[in-house]
Amino acid sequence: MASASRDAPPAPVRRLDYRPPAFLVDAIDLRFDLDPERTRVTASFTFRRNPATGADALAPLVLDGEQQHDVGIALDGVPLPAARYRLTERTLVVLDPPERGELTVSSTIHPAANVALEGLYVSSGVFCTQCEAEGFRRITYFPDRPDVLAVYTVTLVADRERYPVLLSNGNRVGTGDAGNGRHFVRWHDPFPKPSYLFALVAGNLAALADSFTTASGRRVALEIWSTPANLDRCDHAMRSLKRAMRWDEERFGREYDLDTFMIFCADDFNMGAMENKGLNIFNSRLVLARPDTATDDDYLAIEGVVGHEYFHNWSGNRVTCRDWFQLSLKEGLTVFRDQEFSSDMNSRAVERIAAVTFLRSAQFAEDAGPMAHPVRPDEYIEINNFYTTTVYEKGAEVIRMQHALLGPERFRDGIDLYFARHDGEAVTCDDFVQALQDASGVDLGQFRRWYSQAGTPIVRARGAYDAARRTYTLDLEQETPPTPGQPHKEPFHIPLAIGLLDAAGTDLPLTLEGERGRGPTTRVLSLTERRASFVFTGIGARPVPSLNRGFSAPVRMETDCTDADLAFLAANDSDPVNRWEAAQRIYCTSVFTAMQAAAAGAPLPDDPAIGALIAGIVADERADPALRALAITPPDFAYLAGLAATIDVDAMVAAREHVVRTVARAARDPLLRCYESLRVQEPYAPTPAQVGARLLANRCLRYLCSLDDPAAIALATAQFDSADNMTDAIAALVAVNHTTSPAREALFARFESRWRDEPLVLDKWFALQATAMRADTLPRVRSLLGHPRFNARNPNRIRSLVASFALANWPAFHVSDGEGYAFVAEQTIALDRVNPQVAAVLAGAFNQWRRHAEPRRSLQQRALERIGETPGLSPDVAEIVARNLAG
Ligand SMILES: [Zn+2]
Repeated sequence: MASASRDAPPAPVRRLDYRPPAFLVDAIDLRFDLDPERTRVTASFTFRRNPATGADALAPLVLDGEQQHDVGIALDGVPLPAARYRLTERTLVVLDPPERGELTVSSTIHPAANVALEGLYVSSGVFCTQCEAEGFRRITYFPDRPDVLAVYTVTLVADRERYPVLLSNGNRVGTGDAGNGRHFVRWHDPFPKPSYLFALVAGNLAALADSFTTASGRRVALEIWSTPANLDRCDHAMRSLKRAMRWDEERFGREYDLDTFMIFCADDFNMGAMENKGLNIFNSRLVLARPDTATDDDYLAIEGVVGHEYFHNWSGNRVTCRDWFQLSLKEGLTVFRDQEFSSDMNSRAVERIAAVTFLRSAQFAEDAGPMAHPVRPDEYIEINNFYTTTVYEKGAEVIRMQHALLGPERFRDGIDLYFARHDGEAVTCDDFVQALQDASGVDLGQFRRWYSQAGTPIVRARGAYDAARRTYTLDLEQETPPTPGQPHKEPFHIPLAIGLLDAAGTDLPLTLEGERGRGPTTRVLSLTERRASFVFTGIGARPVPSLNRGFSAPVRMETDCTDADLAFLAANDSDPVNRWEAAQRIYCTSVFTAMQAAAAGAPLPDDPAIGALIAGIVADERADPALRALAITPPDFAYLAGLAATIDVDAMVAAREHVVRTVARAARDPLLRCYESLRVQEPYAPTPAQVGARLLANRCLRYLCSLDDPAAIALATAQFDSADNMTDAIAALVAVNHTTSPAREALFARFESRWRDEPLVLDKWFALQATAMRADTLPRVRSLLGHPRFNARNPNRIRSLVASFALANWPAFHVSDGEGYAFVAEQTIALDRVNPQVAAVLAGAFNQWRRHAEPRRSLQQRALERIGETPGLSPDVAEIVARNLAG
């Protein structure tokens, strides 16, 4: 395998350097003679000079290609003389090409040796592919860029015994015998697509089959392919797929377009899932579910991701990205679509709070670190590093804000226009916004800054009540902190949904000065300037403001709300997201007060307010259990760290644990009563009612066990013993995970012996031990690397053990002697030689290093330097380290 290129990191790619392709490809015919050791690939394609590139009229035909051997080239059926082309590490350049012609390139690749899992590789004896973003160039020579769209015909030839099932994109158009015990299957995909959507799968597989009839009456065959042993865990994914297909027709008017839709689940997969046209490839953890092996969270994630990949058929495949800087064009829009799908299938408020929690913990941290970038980035060295929470989750928030500004009907008109105008094209984020603007008449000019400016805006709000004039004036101010390469920010167009509550907790009509009649009780204010005032009239007494309702804008709010206002909102706000947010703010205040005491070496104060608040929420049996569970969940370390000026890990960990225990003591009886009243008696089903009840009961159990109280630990043990589902079994382990009770060891041992042959279940066991807040966690993690079921080449195992430790265990990763940092640096270096994409995820654990207090700041810097000094580092890891150490 070629490796020389790793010593010379490629130069950054810049958005403004985009040039249309010099040549277009209309159709490609691919033949694979599959063999794990040596697969021969023959690609024949028709090319023609792109009429849109006047200035580049003499440009050669440049094809991308890496790690291929024994290359043979023919032009219009005649072998090409060596003088007519140049072969480099990364390209094949045809010199002086004709205006149009047919090029045939044959080459040999080594799928079994492909441990980076990009391109064609072998996973548990099955051939599969991952081409987004730039994996196709490891399969054959081609213009591997999303703006070259071609019609694919693919012939797969393989040993009939070992690989009876041969799948690719589109429709099956031929099968037959290929001699020597081999057979072939031919596939044709009539929809032109970019190379990143190519896929093939070959192996000894079984399918769960079903069908779906589209709104216009076409019957589509649905197939979920897996190893035969896993077939009994595919039903939930199939049900989710059918729901997603119906929902996309009803909500967005989008129908499926091929005769067959297939999903294959792979054991070894770098990402979650991939939307290849007609043949989605999934990480098996996002397909396989049975009540005894998968948790409620797994069930919800499967439904959401099956929907997400399916929705890409329109938002990504039929209309795709011009270049990789436009990644959010497909990802932000499709995350928005999958969030809406999950909200319609489950509880909208619960889905929204989950999305906001994730955004604030992960994406706000990204905005505050060296990897901060706009939703549409301006440059990258390795595009794999830009599949980020900014592109995905903030990208979805940017779509959601446009939905808020246009309203649902005009938004739908805009989306319809976007699909109609650009079907079959590769376009930009600007094209998307333009379609919304043209269809709605709403000016989105200033709004486009959300695509070009990085950073989390801060919105400061101050309210003043004037009893004589019966007015309430809301002063708003926005400011966005500098991010790398963007020292000054222009104001954003921020849609801020607000409400005002009277003393009884009732929403007041919101009528702005100069308006007639009664306004609505929630309205979206457009904040477009750095400062603006909004005057509401007809307000009879001082109201309590409910700001950024539904988290209408991805901003940090700073308000002048008093503790009493927050407690009032937590109890009364008609907006469930802000009710939750008020409780979170009270929780954060309590933690920060304790943190100040911890930092000063003073005894930590017991805050009676937080205990009373949580006790009240737990006891409120009229409220939705899922929302109560979210309201009593302590803010996570990542979110708390984002609120601190400097991160003092010791004080933060001590303070948060102290507040959790304060709550557990103050609310012990209501927690226990709630736990006992909520145990689900019916057979397991992932319905919103059951999921909510389990969530709240298990949150209560976690509080109860936080005191290391033997009675509570006995409850967890009893729950583990009687659990008929993975959700309750895992929750029992979670509850005792941080304790030093001997019962913990016993439960973990029993879980291991029960599930040691189920890799996806054992991943949960690895992850819990990696996230245990215990003094012995690091030595445990080190010894688990040698566990017979741990495989350092499998991304799911790495994520469950090493990435969980690095990214989700604040006390252990940040242990003050720097041992956690040294371990993660060592693991990053070792993994980089195997799988750079996943190694870069580990390196990202240091992204906040500059925000830490000493000595952790210097210790993390040294760990980064140690990674950076390693010879032969991949561009993936090198880019993360360089951005961290720059400036
Ligand atoms: Zn996606």
